[in-house]
Amino acid sequence: MYEKPLPVIDPESQPYWDALKQHRLLLKRCRACQRCHHYPRELCPHCHSDDVEWSQAAGGGHIYSYTVARRPAGPSFKPDTPYVVALVELDEGVRMMTNIVTLDVESLRIGQRVAVQFDDVTPDVTLPKFRPA
Ligand SMILES: [Zn+2]
Repeated sequence: MYEKPLPVIDPESQPYWDALKQHRLLLKRCRACQRCHHYPRELCPHCHSDDVEWSQAAGGGHIYSYTVARRPAGPSFKPDTPYVVALVELDEGVRMMTNIVTLDVESLRIGQRVAVQFDDVTPDVTLPKFRPA
C-alpha cells in the first residue's frame, strides 16, 4: 500500500495525470509566446494569454538544484532515505520539483543530465521522476 501523500487531481490538471499514467510527460505551451510552463495553468504565466495547449515533453533535462534528504519528511519516507529532492530544468525550459532516482546520491552534480522515468505509485497516480542520463 502506498502511504505517501498523493496529488490532488483537479479538472485542470486531469490531462497531465492521465498522460503520466500512459508514461508521457505533458507541459502546457503557449501559442502566443511559444513558451512552456509548469505546473499546468489556464493562463500563460509569461504573457497572460489563454491560448495555451498541451504538448509532450521530450523527457530530458538537467539538475538545476537538489538536496539529499537524510532525515525522512515523515514515517512513510523513511525506507527511502537517503533520497534526492531536486528541481529539474527540462529542455523545454520549465523547472519541476521531483526526485532523482539513484543508488549513489553522492555522485549527483548540479547541471548533470537527467531523463524522466515514470513511477506508477497507485492505479490512478503515476509520478514523474528522473534518473541520471
Ligand atoms: Zn505566453
